[in-house]
Amino acid sequence: MTDEAYQRQSQFFSALSHPVRLRILDILAQDEACVCHLSAVLQQRQAYVSQQLAILKEAGIITDRKEGLYVYYSLANADVTHLVNQARRYLADLTGDKSLLQVEVPAHGEIDCPCPKCQAELSIRDFHQEKDSIHE
Ligand SMILES: [Zn+2]
Repeated sequence: MTDEAYQRQSQFFSALSHPVRLRILDILAQDEACVCHLSAVLQQRQAYVSQQLAILKEAGIITDRKEGLYVYYSLANADVTHLVNQARRYLADLTGDKSLLQVEVPAHGEIDCPCPKCQAELSIRDFHQEKDSIHE
Protein backbone atom coordinates (compact mmCIF):
# COMPACT_ATOMS: atom_id res chain seq x y z
CA MET A 1 0.00 0.00 0.00
CA THR A 2 1.24 3.48 -0.87
CA ASP A 3 2.01 6.21 1.65
CA GLU A 4 -0.86 8.20 0.12
CA ALA A 5 -3.28 5.36 0.79
CA TYR A 6 -2.25 5.27 4.46
CA GLN A 7 -2.58 9.04 4.57
CA ARG A 8 -6.11 8.82 3.16
CA GLN A 9 -7.11 6.26 5.81
CA SER A 10 -5.66 8.44 8.52
CA GLN A 11 -7.68 11.45 7.32
CA PHE A 12 -10.84 9.34 7.29
CA PHE A 13 -10.30 8.08 10.85
CA SER A 14 -9.42 11.53 12.12
CA ALA A 15 -12.75 12.85 10.76
CA LEU A 16 -14.49 10.14 12.83
CA SER A 17 -12.27 10.79 15.81
CA HIS A 18 -14.46 13.13 17.86
CA PRO A 19 -17.26 12.37 20.37
CA VAL A 20 -19.66 14.94 18.93
CA ARG A 21 -19.03 13.81 15.35
CA LEU A 22 -19.72 10.19 16.35
CA ARG A 23 -22.99 11.30 17.96
CA ILE A 24 -23.90 13.22 14.80
CA LEU A 25 -23.43 10.00 12.80
CA ASP A 26 -25.81 8.18 15.17
CA ILE A 27 -28.44 10.88 14.71
CA LEU A 28 -28.05 10.87 10.93
CA ALA A 29 -28.18 7.06 10.84
CA GLN A 30 -31.77 7.42 12.02
CA ASP A 31 -32.88 10.19 9.66
CA GLU A 32 -31.53 13.20 7.81
CA ALA A 33 -31.46 16.33 9.99
CA CYS A 34 -30.85 20.07 9.81
CA VAL A 35 -28.34 21.97 11.94
CA CYS A 36 -31.04 23.24 14.30
CA HIS A 37 -32.20 19.67 15.00
CA LEU A 38 -28.65 18.42 15.60
CA SER A 39 -28.06 21.44 17.80
CA ALA A 40 -31.20 20.62 19.85
CA VAL A 41 -30.32 16.92 20.25
CA LEU A 42 -26.66 17.58 21.07
CA GLN A 43 -27.40 20.65 23.18
CA GLN A 44 -24.57 22.48 21.47
CA ARG A 45 -24.50 25.84 19.71
CA GLN A 46 -25.35 25.75 15.99
CA ALA A 47 -22.01 27.35 15.06
CA TYR A 48 -20.18 24.55 16.86
CA VAL A 49 -22.34 21.85 15.23
CA SER A 50 -21.74 23.45 11.82
CA GLN A 51 -17.98 23.17 12.34
CA GLN A 52 -18.30 19.45 13.08
CA LEU A 53 -20.58 18.95 10.06
CA ALA A 54 -18.05 20.71 7.82
CA ILE A 55 -15.33 18.26 8.89
CA LEU A 56 -17.57 15.25 8.20
CA LYS A 57 -18.60 16.69 4.85
CA GLU A 58 -15.01 17.50 3.88
CA ALA A 59 -14.14 13.85 4.55
CA GLY A 60 -17.01 12.72 2.31
CA ILE A 61 -18.79 10.97 5.20
CA ILE A 62 -21.94 13.09 5.07
CA THR A 63 -23.75 14.95 2.34
CA ASP A 64 -26.37 17.71 2.34
CA ARG A 65 -29.37 18.93 0.39
CA LYS A 66 -31.20 22.22 0.50
CA GLU A 67 -34.96 22.42 0.97
CA GLY A 68 -36.38 25.91 1.25
CA LEU A 69 -34.54 27.72 4.03
CA TYR A 70 -33.11 24.52 5.51
CA VAL A 71 -30.11 22.36 4.72
CA TYR A 72 -30.57 18.68 5.61
CA TYR A 73 -27.57 16.50 6.34
CA SER A 74 -27.44 12.75 5.82
CA LEU A 75 -24.91 9.93 5.68
CA ALA A 76 -23.23 9.80 2.28
CA ASN A 77 -23.14 6.01 2.61
CA ALA A 78 -24.78 3.93 5.35
CA ASP A 79 -21.71 1.66 5.40
CA VAL A 80 -20.05 4.09 7.80
CA THR A 81 -22.62 3.00 10.41
CA HIS A 82 -21.57 -0.65 10.01
CA LEU A 83 -17.95 0.37 10.34
CA VAL A 84 -18.53 2.39 13.52
CA ASN A 85 -20.70 -0.40 14.98
CA GLN A 86 -17.95 -2.90 14.22
CA ALA A 87 -15.49 -0.71 16.11
CA ARG A 88 -17.97 -0.46 19.01
CA ARG A 89 -18.33 -4.25 19.20
CA TYR A 90 -14.56 -4.56 19.14
CA LEU A 91 -14.23 -2.02 21.97
CA ALA A 92 -17.08 -3.55 23.97
CA ASP A 93 -15.37 -6.97 23.79
CA LEU A 94 -12.02 -5.45 24.66
CA THR A 95 -13.23 -3.41 27.63
CA GLY A 96 -16.39 -5.25 28.73
CA ASP A 97 -18.27 -1.96 28.49
CA LYS A 98 -21.64 -2.95 27.03
CA SER A 99 -22.85 0.67 27.06
CA LEU A 100 -20.84 1.04 23.85
CA LEU A 101 -23.59 -0.95 22.12
CA GLN A 102 -26.51 1.13 23.41
CA VAL A 103 -27.21 3.98 21.04
CA GLU A 104 -30.06 6.21 22.15
CA VAL A 105 -31.16 8.85 19.70
CA PRO A 106 -34.47 10.72 20.03
CA ALA A 107 -36.66 10.57 16.93
CA HIS A 108 -38.01 13.72 15.28
CA GLY A 109 -40.85 15.04 17.43
CA GLU A 110 -39.50 13.48 20.66
CA ILE A 111 -37.55 16.53 21.78
CA ASP A 112 -38.25 20.23 22.14
CA CYS A 113 -36.93 21.34 18.76
CA PRO A 114 -38.04 24.05 16.33
CA CYS A 115 -36.92 22.21 13.16
CA PRO A 116 -39.53 21.53 10.42
CA LYS A 117 -39.34 17.74 10.84
CA CYS A 118 -39.97 17.86 14.60
CA GLN A 119 -42.76 20.40 14.15
CA ALA A 120 -44.34 18.20 11.44
CA GLU A 121 -44.23 15.17 13.77
CA LEU A 122 -45.74 17.19 16.61
CA SER A 123 -48.59 18.50 14.45
CA ILE A 124 -49.38 14.92 13.28
CA ARG A 125 -49.47 13.88 16.94
CA ASP A 126 -51.68 16.86 17.88
CA PHE A 127 -54.01 15.95 15.04
CA HIS A 128 -54.34 12.35 16.30
CA GLN A 129 -54.88 13.54 19.89
CA GLU A 130 -57.62 15.90 18.78
CA LYS A 131 -59.21 13.13 16.72
CA ASP A 132 -59.03 10.78 19.76
CA SER A 133 -60.56 13.37 22.09
CA ILE A 134 -63.48 13.86 19.67
CA HIS A 135 -64.22 10.13 19.88
CA GLU A 136 -64.15 10.13 23.69
ZN1 LIG B 1 -35.87 18.73 15.22
